[in-house]
Amino acid sequence: MADDDYMALLDRAKEVLPETIENHERFELPELDILQEGKTTVFKNFIDVTDKLRRDPLHLLQFLLRELGTPGNIESRRVVFKAKISSQTINEKIQIYTETYVICSECGLPDTKMVKEDRTLILECEACGARRSINVRKASKSDSQNVLRVGDIIQILISDVGKKGDGIGKYMDYIVIVPGTAKGNNVNAKITNLSGKTAFGSITAEPANR
Ligand SMILES: [Zn+2]
Repeated sequence: MADDDYMALLDRAKEVLPETIENHERFELPELDILQEGKTTVFKNFIDVTDKLRRDPLHLLQFLLRELGTPGNIESRRVVFKAKISSQTINEKIQIYTETYVICSECGLPDTKMVKEDRTLILECEACGARRSINVRKASKSDSQNVLRVGDIIQILISDVGKKGDGIGKYMDYIVIVPGTAKGNNVNAKITNLSGKTAFGSITAEPANR
């Protein structure tokens, strides 16, 4: 075969490649079967999930306990968390786990394995051969996006007024109390105090920093 032909063939192959990859079905996790029982949360099909992800159940369990900040145990095919946790929260954590530890960032398939090289965790794709280092920080970063901290400056719409006359608004799943505001105000507030999902803020002229 002439070199020109070969190059033409290579170009064609490159054109065809992305389509072939997109033809793969997007990876889907089994639907999580989660049940709140009193003060505990039972993740009934935990092992089904780790089977599908092809990951060590203990690895996922450790990740979840760390992310959720709660104790818990594997009991046969289930996990019992010693706290009330919404299935949405668990779902989000599993998504983060899957993106961080399972899905190949090149081809989007879950056919990967984790290998340790020196002190770095590498995700190796058996489907396309791609390799990437596992950036564990990714998980905590996306987690911190949902967490308010003292000193954060947020823009918030005051949607209500509390008993003491303070304006109240919602930010993510936080209730933020901002004294000196009225319903309908849209203000920048600096978080001065946090207690669970209730935050206190003071009006500030500084720009929002998150
Ligand atoms: Zn791949």
